[in-house]
Amino acid sequence: MDILCWGFMKASSVRILQNSKNGVIIKSGDALERMGKVDCVAFDKTGTITEGRPRVTDVVALEDAAENNGAVADLIGYAAGIERGSEHPVGFSIVQYAINNDIALKSIDSFEAVAGQGVVGESDGHAVLVGNEKLMQAHNVAVSTNDTHLIGELAIQGKTPVYVALDGTLVGIIAVADVVKPTSQAAIKQLKDMNIHVAMITGDNERTAHAIAAQMDIAEVMAEVLPQDKAAHIKKLQEQGRKVAMVGDGINDAPALVQADVGIAIGTGTDVALESADIVLMQSDLMDVATAINLSKQTIRNVKQNLFWAFGYNVAGIPIACGLLYIFGGPLLNPMFAAAAMSLSSVSVLSNALRLRRFKPYS
Ligand code: ADP
Ligand code: MG
Repeated sequence: MDILCWGFMKASSVRILQNSKNGVIIKSGDALERMGKVDCVAFDKTGTITEGRPRVTDVVALEDAAENNGAVADLIGYAAGIERGSEHPVGFSIVQYAINNDIALKSIDSFEAVAGQGVVGESDGHAVLVGNEKLMQAHNVAVSTNDTHLIGELAIQGKTPVYVALDGTLVGIIAVADVVKPTSQAAIKQLKDMNIHVAMITGDNERTAHAIAAQMDIAEVMAEVLPQDKAAHIKKLQEQGRKVAMVGDGINDAPALVQADVGIAIGTGTDVALESADIVLMQSDLMDVATAINLSKQTIRNVKQNLFWAFGYNVAGIPIACGLLYIFGGPLLNPMFAAAAMSLSSVSVLSNALRLRRFKPYS
């Protein structure tokens, strides 16, 4: 047991040096060990594959609603007014758009955020809904065939359509789009080259998710997943016999991070995600997922080598020190040599562990 700790300690102290250099924080030896066995990585989309700072790209006031409250300024005024209380990046983007375009935000009387759907509130005597299709369905807001067509067009461009309804009528669509992080595509390719299955789990619109997944060359997409269901999807992957790592940044990813064999949080993510994860990527770079898997494999290999050497020295050394050779007419072991052999075993284990300093992260 002592020997085992010794081997692990030596390799893991090097690992800590290594971590700070690569910006990968591994919270426990156990997580480090599990990471090397991972054969499936599930990514959250917003804020993980993408930057998580969406921007408004299109604002469409729907024709049949135009005579009521459909004018673009009104549409944004209501939507941004209600989103002022939201903490979701989609909400921020709409408020920012209003500010940038000098559109006055309507005052709000009540506000409620619905996880995975959007926001609901009252403003200027109107019931306002801003969110996705699920939110519209939950409030029985009708979406015409024409509107569905328009929404589809926006979604296949990788934009997230945000529905805006006033008093139960769909009055407009605001499209928001988020930029993919520069290294995401290369990182996903790297993982696939390592024979790791890659999947995407997101609360976003099905078609938007597929558009981004196609750019990233990800075949397995789970879209329109409610925050509470993300963990269930991870469990499904595990039931297929996979060792799953989940990478995410949001509060809604926390249960999935806990469910996964290894939870990985993006360094810029929410505190809840950082708390729930086993590994934190300080540079928010997905390439570090591949680096962490490789680092884990090399560290575990190093620990095993160290174990072999430390054990080997002792298996040979202790019987000799006990006088094994003397029984067969050989010499007794001079304590000076015994001490030297003892130190030598430490030196060999330590030098082997230090080889990990030459570990090269992927870039
Ligand atoms: P994700 O972070 O994976 O996109 P969420 O569960 O946070 O998932 O959100 C799911 C979807 O719900 C979003 O893609 C968006 O369409 C909608 N949504 C959530 N919050 C808001 C909001 N404040 N305003 C508008 N839409 C929202
Ligand atoms: Mg996210």
